[in-house]
Amino acid sequence: MAANTGSTNFIHAIINEDLRTGYYGGRVHTRFPPEPNGYLHIGHAKSICLNFGTAALYNGLCNLRFDDTNPSKEEVEFVESIKEDVRWLGFDWEDRLYYASDYFEQLYEFAVQLIKLGRAYVCDLSAEEIREYRGTLTQPGRNSPYRDRSVEENLDLFRRMRDGEFEDGSRVLRAKIDMASPNLNLRDPVMYRIMRQTHHRTGDKWCIYPMYDFAHPLSDYLEGITHSICTLEFEDHRPLYNWYLETLGLENRPKQIEFARLNLTHTVMSKRILRQLVEEGIVNGWDDPRMPTISGLRRRGVTPAAIRDFCDRIGVAKSNSTVDIGLLEHCIREDLNKNAYRVMAVLRPLKVVIENYPEDLVEELDAENNPENPEMGTRKIPFSRVLYIEQDDFLEDPPKKFFRLSPGKEVRLKHAYIIKCERVIKDEKTGEIIELRCTYDPTTKSGMEFGNRKVKGTLHWVSARHAVKAEVRLFNHLFLDPYPDEEKDEQGYRALINPNSMEVLTSCMVEPGLADATLDKRYQFLRQGYFALDPKDSSPGNLVFNRIVSLRDSWAKIRDSEN
Ligand code: ATP
Ligand code: MG
Repeated sequence: MAANTGSTNFIHAIINEDLRTGYYGGRVHTRFPPEPNGYLHIGHAKSICLNFGTAALYNGLCNLRFDDTNPSKEEVEFVESIKEDVRWLGFDWEDRLYYASDYFEQLYEFAVQLIKLGRAYVCDLSAEEIREYRGTLTQPGRNSPYRDRSVEENLDLFRRMRDGEFEDGSRVLRAKIDMASPNLNLRDPVMYRIMRQTHHRTGDKWCIYPMYDFAHPLSDYLEGITHSICTLEFEDHRPLYNWYLETLGLENRPKQIEFARLNLTHTVMSKRILRQLVEEGIVNGWDDPRMPTISGLRRRGVTPAAIRDFCDRIGVAKSNSTVDIGLLEHCIREDLNKNAYRVMAVLRPLKVVIENYPEDLVEELDAENNPENPEMGTRKIPFSRVLYIEQDDFLEDPPKKFFRLSPGKEVRLKHAYIIKCERVIKDEKTGEIIELRCTYDPTTKSGMEFGNRKVKGTLHWVSARHAVKAEVRLFNHLFLDPYPDEEKDEQGYRALINPNSMEVLTSCMVEPGLADATLDKRYQFLRQGYFALDPKDSSPGNLVFNRIVSLRDSWAKIRDSEN
């Protein structure tokens, strides 16, 4: 199991204290409890690393539990994707895969027990009336007129709710706590509602479904969870969770610990909005490489190690904040830098003819695969008379510090020779530059003792005869605004969507070895960034590369300027 051990944090401090006092008999048992109503995102990865990582750190256990109490929004597709994502991140729940729906019978019995204790009642108020009776933060609520029903009547009505005698929404079961509590969660919260919905696991067996706030703490209890780690918004729910556990007289109650959820700049973590982006076709599915989903990051070419490293570095805190997406990109680069093959790919080709290079000659030049990692070896790349370079590596009328190619100027071609631009050939009608005529200096071959003449610029290139055509997809942030999540207006985030978040280049030319590129490898296209094959759209005769991340590391720059 991959452990996200690393730094200690306040949660580990709490566990250390529990271990010292023998609180749970030395056990540490956590769980990751997703609701299967969407795909997992990088925020969930933080929770996964924290729950599985904490268990691993203490030789404990971590369960995967689907909190599937709301059949109207949940689907099998989401269950399967969540399992795949957790496994891909490097974590293993072994034989501990659970569903809250497995506990429906036990939860029903807990509810019956609360009725018998006089601590739950069937209420006939409508949803709107319940809201009205609840009061506000500044005003206490009012008791429901059904609050004082007898235990017998409540038991009878609740059983008949289960048996399907009443219409959807006509009655609910509520906990009898305190309508004047300053904590709104304790103002007789709903425990069960009538809802004729087919559940993905229990089918039509049930027409009443427990509320999350009732099911969650009891599911934790039933699984023997010791530390129930969740995000800050559940802090106000903790008294309710404890009320259920205490009122039912349950021992060995899970201890809830809240931490700040992950927010990232230039993207959203709301499943509701991510779902809208998918359903409205603003992105191409949950695994679109621009999405902050685990499946999107995977399709883009990000590795699980980079995500775990990121989750480790952001740590856990008690107050909400937004992490710069540059930090995630930094972690991705650090990981790829060690393992990516350095290759040459020309994204927007401009033809170059070396006039003094023999027509039929092809030289096989040596190129290292990764200067950071000599073990990755070297390869041969073909050099010939007609090449492609990048269009923006040439300017006819360059500014002062332009060290790339321009008329009369010299540059080095990486792993090859110094060339000089002699003439520019343009399309007669449009004036567009279509070809450069150059000469090369045979005494400047890379790696040769005598090839020591220095020039300022070095360009990447490919041999036109040998290069392979490829499609390349470049991605930008999904949102132009750094804080789209803070947009209060329901629809307001739409105006913040980046209309240019994906650029597709269809006539790229890549070095011939990339015809054999494989899905498991990562590539650094020199000067262009890190790339990987798109697992869905790429095939042997039709290469499609995604840019995982560019080379420019804004995070390292910020860090260095602060040091
Ligand atoms: P919903 O609004 O549908 O409940 P959710 O994001 O809370 O969405 P869950 O499936 O309930 O999704 O989340 C599973 C677990 O992941 C929970 O324990 C939740 O606290 C945690 N989690 C969700 N989002 C984040 C986040 N951005 N950062 C850290 N943990 C998160
Ligand atoms: Mg949730």
